Amino acid sequence: MSKLWYPMINQGKCIGCSACYKMCKHGVFAIEKNKPKVINREGCVEGCHGCGNRCPEKAIMYSGDFRRMIKCSCNDD
Ligand code: SF4
Ligand code: SF4
Repeated sequence: MSKLWYPMINQGKCIGCSACYKMCKHGVFAIEKNKPKVINREGCVEGCHGCGNRCPEKAIMYSGDFRRMIKCSCNDD
C-alpha cells in the first residue's frame, strides 16, 4: 500500500530556516543546498502536523489533508 500521509514542501515559499528538519524525529527530511527535502515518506506519522505547525512560511502541506480537500463528484447524489 502506498504511503498516504507525508509532508509536501512548497519550495517557492520555503526560506530554508530548517525548523521542519529540526522538529521531525523520524528522519523524514534531509537538508540539501540549505533547503529541506523529503527523503523518507514512510517515516512520517499519520496525522502529525508537527513540522507544518513550526513552519513560519506555511510552506508545508500534507498529502492526506490535500486528499480531503478534493471532492469527487462520484460521491454526489
Ligand atoms: S508530520 Fe510529523 S512525522 Fe511527519 S515529517 Fe512532519 S514532524 Fe515528521
Ligand atoms: S520550516 Fe518551512 S520555511 Fe523552514 S525550512 Fe521547513 S519548509 Fe522551509
